[in-house]
Amino acid sequence: MAELTVLILSVTCVAAMKVVDMSYPLDEFSIAWPTFPPYKFTILNRGLTRGGFWLETNSFDTPEHKGTHVDAPSHFHRNGWRTHQIPASRLVGPAVVVDISAKANSDPDYLLSIKDLQAWEMKHGRIPDNAVILMNSGWAYRYPDPFWVFNTNDTADTRTFHFPGIDPDLVAWLANRRDVIAMAVDTPSVDRGQAKDFPTHQHLGRYSILGVENVKNIGRLPPVGATIVIGVLNIEDGSGGPARILALIDDKCECAATAAAGRGRYPRRPMWN
Ligand SMILES: [Zn+2]
Repeated sequence: MAELTVLILSVTCVAAMKVVDMSYPLDEFSIAWPTFPPYKFTILNRGLTRGGFWLETNSFDTPEHKGTHVDAPSHFHRNGWRTHQIPASRLVGPAVVVDISAKANSDPDYLLSIKDLQAWEMKHGRIPDNAVILMNSGWAYRYPDPFWVFNTNDTADTRTFHFPGIDPDLVAWLANRRDVIAMAVDTPSVDRGQAKDFPTHQHLGRYSILGVENVKNIGRLPPVGATIVIGVLNIEDGSGGPARILALIDDKCECAATAAAGRGRYPRRPMWN
């Protein structure tokens, strides 16, 4: 009987959960660094077979770092985890959503800083263990136009890129003082466009923190309360890989938070679907 009660409770919990898709579809237009080879999608079967049933199968060929994807620690750190070595426990964690869109709007070279996270903690409490930090720079509406995403007139010249990123000092600060498993951005790189030698990538690798790039819908998450699932393709010896990123939001928790904040009744149609 006790087992039955647990089962009913867990089903209720799942029913109250909202799921936000944080990934763009992977295709030839997905954003990637300009030096990478193109994406190829080949239809192998698409039609009625002689047996009278429908069959579709395809083959695809893609750079690992394209569209919504994960940077494994080995991407910029020798002996860092490769994709298949990332422990499953490092792929799920509570979201910490930091909005720097106003700052990035006035300064496209803005870096998410230690001060931004300290201000977040003053408002929302200490960063939880196993946290996934998500930077909302307001860049998402530019995706997937490469001129807008890289904020340049010449998408082949990386020196002309101007988009916000994460301060490498913040990565070190978090690694030494908090328990963070991943840092996600709505831009094409955890380093800003004007960075030299990718210092933030190097720091993330050094501290075994995953990077997640070109993340969709960060602006639809509450600052605290969502759980992020980083569903990266389990590539043997990969340096990262395309990923289906999901945010799980407990509807009841969000209701309670909304009421407590005095923002009135929770809307019937969730705004993040
Ligand atoms: Zn990458």
